[in-house]
Amino acid sequence: MSSDTVEITCIACPVGCDVSLEVDDGEIQSIEGNTCPRGADYAKEEYRNPTRILPTTARVAGGVLPRVPVKSAEPMPKPELEDAMAEIAAVEVDAPIELGDVIVENVCDTGVDIVATRDLPATEE
Ligand code: SF4
Repeated sequence: MSSDTVEITCIACPVGCDVSLEVDDGEIQSIEGNTCPRGADYAKEEYRNPTRILPTTARVAGGVLPRVPVKSAEPMPKPELEDAMAEIAAVEVDAPIELGDVIVENVCDTGVDIVATRDLPATEE
């Protein structure tokens, strides 16, 4: 049996408690350091299935700016972030763009869309 201690900083609130998980063969045995139940929930999720909102930008054709800020519409699996960045980097979107427009649908087959986080008008002819 292999046991390990995993240290996680809880980011569920600004306090930032240092939470320690004792793990045996991938199973969480105990949780310490959290000062409220949200910290235990956060640490369990972060250990088992870490996810992040992905913020980045995408190239724009014919817009008043060359790039539009985008983000994942939901938290996505952390191991997929690098491939998602590459998929977004390969895209060029035609202006005009509106806040919430889907820029990449189902990025990396995660079921998560990448959406614009601002309006971006087209250049005037
Ligand atoms: S454990 Fe509770 S108090 Fe500590 S950072 Fe997480 S949410 Fe905040």
